[in-house]
Amino acid sequence: GLVRGALEATAGQRPLTDSLRTRLNELAASAPVVFRMTGDGFLEQREQSGGADAVLARRTLVLAAGPDRLRVRRCPAPSCGMYFLARRRDQAWCSLGCGNRARSTRRQPRETETLN
Ligand SMILES: [Zn+2]
Repeated sequence: GLVRGALEATAGQRPLTDSLRTRLNELAASAPVVFRMTGDGFLEQREQSGGADAVLARRTLVLAAGPDRLRVRRCPAPSCGMYFLARRRDQAWCSLGCGNRARSTRRQPRETETLN
């Protein structure tokens, strides 16, 4: 519920409600990430404890408030509704399959009208 609420607000480019934000912040606080540099000079992230809910809350915060927040969308295709990260500014559907299904559903009413 928390994740859905946060992604729904983010996809609609609305701020999260105070209660959503507070709850996600609290949950994510129990799954901190530690950064370290490896021997060959690369950056490594290590998760410090935290349950699955805490990790999920942290990842939701990254999507809702991170650099990709403007790319979060909800697929409007019939029987989909999945959240996805848009690769292009004008990308409306999560996949080619959803785009094709949405377009064919849109065409159907016109075909019915010609039959009447
Ligand atoms: Zn879809």
